[in-house]
Amino acid sequence: MLSKGLQRFVLTEHWIKTETRIHGEYRGYWFNIAEEDRLTSFETVYPFTSDQLRALTLRLELTKLPKRKTEVIGNERAIALYIKGKEPLSYEEVIDVLKYFAAELAAIGIEQQLCCGSCGKPGKFPLSELGPEKTFPMCEPCFAQGQVDLLQAEAHLAKADFHYIRGTVGGLLGALLATIPWILLEQTGFIGALLAYFIGKGAFKGYVLTGAQIGPRTPRIIVAITGVLVLFAHLMALGVVIQPGYSWFSLRFARYLVTTSELSRAVWGGLAMGLFTAGLGVQRIILDIQEATAVPTLKRL
Ligand SMILES: [Zn+2]
Repeated sequence: MLSKGLQRFVLTEHWIKTETRIHGEYRGYWFNIAEEDRLTSFETVYPFTSDQLRALTLRLELTKLPKRKTEVIGNERAIALYIKGKEPLSYEEVIDVLKYFAAELAAIGIEQQLCCGSCGKPGKFPLSELGPEKTFPMCEPCFAQGQVDLLQAEAHLAKADFHYIRGTVGGLLGALLATIPWILLEQTGFIGALLAYFIGKGAFKGYVLTGAQIGPRTPRIIVAITGVLVLFAHLMALGVVIQPGYSWFSLRFARYLVTTSELSRAVWGGLAMGLFTAGLGVQRIILDIQEATAVPTLKRL
């Protein structure tokens, strides 16, 4: 949901808006503005030379807004000015930043930016989205080349060896170690399932320690290991507490637990609790991996 400041800006300037971003032209320059938690980013895409990039970064670092911290991040294709603060930017602040940014672009010799954001060829070109973050005008040859590049990148990714098997073994060991506190503490009456929080983290640690690469399938591997080890830890923990004369980890024991009605609430409740806390523990890791391994998309808007 966009803040009030950005919504008003979109209406008055006739920019394009998506759920979390707005983009459009300001004084002949092209900008994307995005909002995240306590952060607003102003980005412009342009084939900067390294001198231009250095000069612009230095100049933007001097941006002054009362009660705001700023940070500049640039690469040869784009430069972004991040503005932090508890409150989202007001309409006036948005305009202040854009004025400043546009003036700085002019100051380093970029006259106007109605050009292809990829090669810099002047002209008006259709909008393209280099997903999920960047939107800018792009000329036909650059768009075609971009699609070829992405196909190649995808093919490369499909062929690449991430050493998933090695990572899975490491992940299982890491998760197994992480089940020990739960199994041991269940006996003391402590709510062991809370300790499931560490199982997914252990799985990820173990995966990484084997030297396996993080690839598009890594999240599924970590989730699967976590689920299996939560089940394992729960059965082991119940085995420690109940000790019904079965060996702890057997199908017969599992059947005994599920079919004994006084126990079944503890069994399913504990399992649900374990899966929930393990999920909390692993959620951030999974989101980070998905973001890092996402293949970019390129399309015309
Ligand atoms: Zn181009």
